[in-house]
Amino acid sequence: MATSMRSHSSSALPFNVFRDIEPLRTYRRGLLLERKTVGLVPTMGALHAGHLSLLRRAAQENTNVFVSVYVNPTQFGINEDLDSYPKTWEADMDAIKGLDEEFAASNTKVPTAPLGRISAIFAPTTKIMYPTLPPTSAIDGHGSFVTLTPISTLLEGRSRPVFFRGVATVCMKLFNITAPDRVYFGQKDIQQTVVIRRMVQDFCIDTDVRIVPTEREPDGLALSSRNVYLGQRRRRVAVVLAAALNIAETQYAAGKRTRDEILRPALEFAHTEAEKQENLAPGKRARFTIDYISLADPDSMEEIDEVKMTRGAVLSGAIVMQPAEDVKTDEDSGLGGGTLPVRLIDNILLKPEG
Ligand code: AMP
Repeated sequence: MATSMRSHSSSALPFNVFRDIEPLRTYRRGLLLERKTVGLVPTMGALHAGHLSLLRRAAQENTNVFVSVYVNPTQFGINEDLDSYPKTWEADMDAIKGLDEEFAASNTKVPTAPLGRISAIFAPTTKIMYPTLPPTSAIDGHGSFVTLTPISTLLEGRSRPVFFRGVATVCMKLFNITAPDRVYFGQKDIQQTVVIRRMVQDFCIDTDVRIVPTEREPDGLALSSRNVYLGQRRRRVAVVLAAALNIAETQYAAGKRTRDEILRPALEFAHTEAEKQENLAPGKRARFTIDYISLADPDSMEEIDEVKMTRGAVLSGAIVMQPAEDVKTDEDSGLGGGTLPVRLIDNILLKPEG
C-alpha cells in the first residue's frame, strides 16, 4: 500500500517523508501545477555539513527541495562496507529540520530573496527501489542497470567495478520518481558528477545538474560520512591526501603543465608519508595505501600527459586507511573500533584559462 510517513520520535517533522513512489508522484504533480520548482539532493544519509551545503544551494535555486535518503546496495561491492555504512536517521531528520527553520527565518528577514523550503524526504525501502529482481553487487549479476563506459571503469571504477553502475542506476530511478528541475551533487565525488552529467546527456533526461564545492575540515580533510570510522590516530594522517593534491595544485599555479611536473611532487610526498607511518611502532602508526593520484581530462576522466589551458584538468586521488593496530582501550579509535579500512577520495579542479 502507498503510504507517506510523517512521524518522528523527537518532534513532528515539517516536511513529508515518503516511503513509496505514488504519493510522492502525486505530491510532485501538485507542485508542477502550482508552477513550483524542485531541486533534488540524493544522499545516503549520515548527513554532514557537505550534504547541507547541497541543500542550501538547492534552496537558493528552487521553491521546493527534495532530499532522498537511501543506502543503495548495488553501488557497494561484495566485500565493501554496505552493512556497516552509518545510519543516523534521527540526527539526519533533526539536521534537515534545523536547516529548513534557518531557511524560514531567512525568508522573514530577507523576503526579497526567498529560499526554497525542504518539503519532501524520500526514504524508500530496497523492495521499492528494486521491485523485480533482488539487487545484486556481483559484476555479472542480473538486473536492470544503467551502464556508462568507459568512464565507469576508470579511477574509482577500477577499484570499485560495480560502483558507478549502481550510482547511475539508482540516480536514474530517483530522477524518474521525482522529476526534478535540478539535481545537486558534490564536487567531492568528482567522477560521480561526470557520470551523472553524461547520463543526463546521453539519456536525454530533463534536468539540470548542479555541482557544489567540497566542504572541508579546517585542516583540509574533505567531509565524508565515512570519516566517523577513522578515530583520532587515523584522522590525523588522513589529511595526507588533501595535502598531496594541494602540492600538485601549487605546481599548476606556478605554471607547470606536464603530468610529471604536476604529479611527481605530490606522489613523492604521499609515498614519504606512507613510509613514515610504516616505520612507526604499530600502536602509534596509521598505515595507508595509495590507490591512485590522477591527472585527468574533466569530461572523460582519462589520464592526460599535459594540461591544455582550454580544458583544465581534474586532480584526484584515493587512499585506503588501513585498520589501526594495537589500539589502546582508552584510545578514540572511531566507530567500529578502528578495525575497518576506510577509503578516502578527494580532488581539486584545475580550471581552464578564461
Ligand atoms: P553520499 O551521501 O555520500 O552519497 O553523498 C551525497 C551527496 O553529498 C553527493 O553528491 C556527494 O558528492 C555530496 N558530498 C559528500 N561529501 C561532501 C562534501 N564534503 N562537500 C560537498 N558535498 C559532499
